[in-house]
Amino acid sequence: MTALPLVFDAPKRGLPPRHLADLTAEQRREAVASLGEQPFRANQLSNHYFGRLTVDPDAMTDIPAAAREKLVGDLMPPLWTEVRSVEADAGTTRKTLLRAHDGTLVESVLMRYPDRATLCISSQAGCGMACPFCATGQGGLQRNLSTAEIVDQVRRGAAAMRDGLLPGGPGRLSNIVFMGMGEPLANYKRVIEAVHRICDPAPAGLGISQRSVTVSTVGLVPAIRKLTEENLQVRLAVSLHTPDDELRDTLVPVNTRWKVAEVMEAARGYADRTGRRVSIEYALIRDINDQGWRADMLGKLLRRHLGPLVHVNLIPLNPTPGSKWDASPKPVEREFVRRVKEQGVECTVRDTRGQEIAAACGQLAAEG
Ligand code: SAH
Repeated sequence: MTALPLVFDAPKRGLPPRHLADLTAEQRREAVASLGEQPFRANQLSNHYFGRLTVDPDAMTDIPAAAREKLVGDLMPPLWTEVRSVEADAGTTRKTLLRAHDGTLVESVLMRYPDRATLCISSQAGCGMACPFCATGQGGLQRNLSTAEIVDQVRRGAAAMRDGLLPGGPGRLSNIVFMGMGEPLANYKRVIEAVHRICDPAPAGLGISQRSVTVSTVGLVPAIRKLTEENLQVRLAVSLHTPDDELRDTLVPVNTRWKVAEVMEAARGYADRTGRRVSIEYALIRDINDQGWRADMLGKLLRRHLGPLVHVNLIPLNPTPGSKWDASPKPVEREFVRRVKEQGVECTVRDTRGQEIAAACGQLAAEG
């Protein structure tokens, strides 16, 4: 039989082969042993990946060449190829487009501030939640990312900071937000595993504090409850966008399944268990959800359900292709903040980075 022409050989869309970063420290030792190598090599590999942030076999000189080839070949399949990076805000915001082994594209955004550096990572390629004001939501879901594909975005960001790729010289990646493409709680198991890999101390993981990691959700109530049981210290952010079910059914379509009150109860459970304040994300959209009476309603709702354990992050709506909506005028925004605060609820306006490079909230679409 003759070989099929190459065109039929296109890679299947799917998760990448297993990677070191998919595995716990114990599983890594088992994997190394099953390749016929000494289990301590797992620790050496982990030191390179999680400690030195490298995937370059030539840098792993403590492992004999033959073993190195076998171990890297089996346990470190290439995950991401950088397609391009674009910068904004005088270089302190950097959006990177990454291509997976199967051609899938995602974006992550690194933002450097005077006192910290935050990486906004993707948990899925695309998103299935279909929020009409979000560019990612408009494109639909392509696939979940693997644990290692999530972790490797962080490894790359941490290496970029260490190597001083952003103005300000070498620094440390301090914060991670699951606010890139995708709904993290719809890729639950892999995201939780990724949190462990991101937060476990090196060489088991990348050693970023759980308290500096934020998981943002549209409000998948059963998944929030499950997260509550994980005994993590990560911050929970809930994309609420309006306090009433009628409008939320249209802005966040999953609200037709889990209503505002249920989302509030689940968020309260999380806050009680962890002692951590929940962030409420609220994209302020002109004449849609920015009325003074809605600010009062939001403040009352949050005070009633979450008491002091809440903070509102207002996000001036970022423009997305084909959307008829825009941000509220500044005086309307200021009045909204004032009225939420009047209810005793903390409220700040998020400084929007990277708008001109389509790197801001809701603008990630990963077009090649
Ligand atoms: N799916 C998760 C994670 C994405 S976080 C979630 O929705 O929480 C991205 C945040 O940006 C969410 O709060 C989202 O609602 C918000 N967002 C989406 N589109 C936006 C836009 N056009 N302008 C401002 N914020 C937007």
